[in-house]
Amino acid sequence: MTMTDSKLQDRLAAALDPARRSWIETANDPDADFPIQNLPFGVFTRPDHDVPRVGVAIGDQVLDMAAAGDCGLLGELPAHVRASFDRRNLNDFMDLGRQAWQLTRVVVADLLDAENSSLRTDDAARAICLVKASDATMCMPVMIRDYTDFYASLHHATNVGSMFRPDNPLMPNWLHLPVGYHGRASSIITSGTQIRRPRGQTMPPDAEHPVFGPSRLLDYELEVGFIIGTPSDMGEPVPVEQALDHVFGMVIVNDWSSRDVQKWEYQPLGPFNSKNFATSISPWIVTLEALQPFMIPGPPRSDEHPEQLDYLDHEDDRAIDLELEVLISSEKMRQDGNEPMRISIGNYKHMHWSMSQMIAHHTSTGCNLATGDMMASGTVSGPEPESRGCLLERTWRGEHPIELTDGTERKFLRDMDEVIMRGWCSRDGATRIGFGECTGMILPAAEQS
Ligand code: CA
Repeated sequence: MTMTDSKLQDRLAAALDPARRSWIETANDPDADFPIQNLPFGVFTRPDHDVPRVGVAIGDQVLDMAAAGDCGLLGELPAHVRASFDRRNLNDFMDLGRQAWQLTRVVVADLLDAENSSLRTDDAARAICLVKASDATMCMPVMIRDYTDFYASLHHATNVGSMFRPDNPLMPNWLHLPVGYHGRASSIITSGTQIRRPRGQTMPPDAEHPVFGPSRLLDYELEVGFIIGTPSDMGEPVPVEQALDHVFGMVIVNDWSSRDVQKWEYQPLGPFNSKNFATSISPWIVTLEALQPFMIPGPPRSDEHPEQLDYLDHEDDRAIDLELEVLISSEKMRQDGNEPMRISIGNYKHMHWSMSQMIAHHTSTGCNLATGDMMASGTVSGPEPESRGCLLERTWRGEHPIELTDGTERKFLRDMDEVIMRGWCSRDGATRIGFGECTGMILPAAEQS
């Protein structure tokens, strides 16, 4: 790539300029998730082309990156970068590295800029390159290589721990290392995919023998996922200061969880079948470049917390000011034409462990990072009851059910409930950016054969 680094940095800064507007008017709405300052990457199919390919979200439209390349609109990008857009996932593009991601970002920002007429005034090219988001079918954006789920919220760990171990809510390791487990990559699905209520083995209260059947305590977990773009070599731990260099971008994650299965199975090796049946992600990957205005000093530390060991200690560490909400829509609410009801609202900035620390700890053994790995934060819960990111905490194990607008109560999820998660970043002096939605509906358990 021929552009000088300083020129690229100037254009990246210009891509975040709040004064910048797009000729796609819906992108200029102050409440838009996908203004020109965001430009998240995803994979989609269009009505006239059913093979998945790479797109960029802008307002209520999707820019078809392969078509834009074919139309000669991405001539500033090297041919091998353009070739990575006509693919079924973003792995090839992510494998090209941050300079290619950044160059693509600034080229797309220029193409969609209000001052640029090359695509705006070309009716034929516009018809080929832009697809209404409502006509696009979103696909898994990444072929997930490995999936790791952490447990990085002190509020969540303390709340859940105090339910199961009232005398000893935090395990002795918790404040010293970001606890995690290796999850199941192949059951990660994109937003909108329906979820079958899992069956599983549970030990009912006061029973003498376990039973097998549909999970009765099905829950969601609101999490944030980060996608690894740049791999690391096996045997070479990633220093905490360099960890973010490996991250391509972020998504919202719903780690569907069967609490009755989890309670019976989780000791001594952690969650297994209670988590492996499905994990949903939002389809648009918001890049670290777009998130840069919302990275704040952090994470929060208390004087009562122990000093971090050197490999986790990062003076210049970053939290992300990212608002997150969860809504539920029951079948009756949809039939009655009622809006989904908000169950919780919180912020990712309260997480105890940072992305950098999770990556540094994960690789501290010499474990490698692969392009397409996804790591998730664990349930995002804050200090207030309304910021608790799963029903287990929100209803305190069902002791305080939530009344929905259809008059029914929820301790845990019922069949045909739809869970909707949304995330967005906003602050004075920066353009609001959104993550879009991560949704999923619970179908009844399959008939037992
Ligand atoms: Ca989780």
